[in-house]
Amino acid sequence: MKRLAILGSTGSIGTQALDVVAAHPGLFEVEVLSAHSNANLLIEQAQKFNPNAVVVTDETKYEIVKEALSQSNVKVFSGHSSLEDVVQWDSVDIVLTAIVGFAGLRSTIAAVNAGKGIALANKETLVVAGDIVMKLAAEKGAQIIPVDSEHSAIFQCLVGEDWRTIEKIILTASGGPFLGRKPNYLVNVKASHALQHPNWTMGAKITIDSATLMNKGLEMIEAKWLFGLDNEQIEVIVHPQSIIHSMVQFTDGSVKAQMGLPDMKLPIQYAMGYPRRLDNKYKRLDFRDYAQLTFEQPDYKTFRNLALAKEAMFKGGNTPCVMNAANEVVVQSFLHNKVGFIEMSDVIEKIMERVAYIEQPSLDDYEKSDKEARIYAAELVKQSQLSY
Ligand code: NDP
Ligand code: MG
Repeated sequence: MKRLAILGSTGSIGTQALDVVAAHPGLFEVEVLSAHSNANLLIEQAQKFNPNAVVVTDETKYEIVKEALSQSNVKVFSGHSSLEDVVQWDSVDIVLTAIVGFAGLRSTIAAVNAGKGIALANKETLVVAGDIVMKLAAEKGAQIIPVDSEHSAIFQCLVGEDWRTIEKIILTASGGPFLGRKPNYLVNVKASHALQHPNWTMGAKITIDSATLMNKGLEMIEAKWLFGLDNEQIEVIVHPQSIIHSMVQFTDGSVKAQMGLPDMKLPIQYAMGYPRRLDNKYKRLDFRDYAQLTFEQPDYKTFRNLALAKEAMFKGGNTPCVMNAANEVVVQSFLHNKVGFIEMSDVIEKIMERVAYIEQPSLDDYEKSDKEARIYAAELVKQSQLSY
């Protein structure tokens, strides 16, 4: 029986993780659930899974949750510092980090610091502070198992292999809803359109990141830290069918790929069950449905976010953190029609130039760089023609 803390249980990954728990009675016990603003769903989840505690990070929602669960023995906490406390409890074996964005950083670090098993969905944590997180994980014996489908694929390809024999990894990208489009088209696209991903149903932020290819850029940086790779060992290829979830090429030229239907429950289940591969009854891949698996070079010129993320990875220091913060601001603005699709890259590029470079940032430096980048990005967004 593994005892789980699911951070961000009301999100796309969080709810699917609870589906995995429900499908495997006797294997998992839910110890902690956390939400930010969706009090109703958190209450419903607490009633169904009966955790020891829930944390609602939006403090204005505390009373509602507390009141609704007053007849149960579920403890109710609020605020981010409570999140950092509960992940360290002895009664927690695995922390699934499914909070979106920089907001997930501190709680992930607290869990790593307590030496917990980490099922990592919150990729922004590694983008921002991968050096600090991976070093701490090694020191504290916290094993980090990726949930992101590409990184899960790579991890699965590496089972039984000596990681020193990795020549390169090849991250696959679906290309998103605007694959093949050019700037003259993208300049007019709206959030409602960008939110329609061809292969995956995900939270709003990552869906926009998939449309701009920033998601793949974030994943390059995530992979660098997770697998201890040099920048040159990380490649991206567009594979619109999303059947191959990523590949590893070894030093003998052999390539391993992990495949399956695009369903996030598979990598979530793999990370939660690791090292066991658990059964399920989900739909199977039938190769006759996929007469062709195709591959193409990403269009770095049109989808500039991918080029910017690659540049940030090579620059290192606080640059990925700054880029991530600017991206979080522009994505939220784009979702509210306050900045254009292409303008998002313009803002990110300017912020990457504007915030002072720090070669070896401390955690405090990362927090400061994040704040500074957000302030500048918000200023630039205000100047957009779309802002009002
Ligand atoms: P969602 O937006 O669907 O869910 C985000 C979760 O985080 C919700 O539970 C939300 O709470 C909570 N949350 C939001 N803001 C805060 C905050 N400031 N403090 C604390 N909690 C907060 O996101 P996803 O599930 O799509 O993504 C989660 C993470 O997983 C991201 O880092 C993403 O990149 C990664 N990921 C997601 C994939 C997917 O298929 N969705 C695939 C691969 C990686 P509430 O809703 O209650 O406000
Ligand atoms: Mg992914």
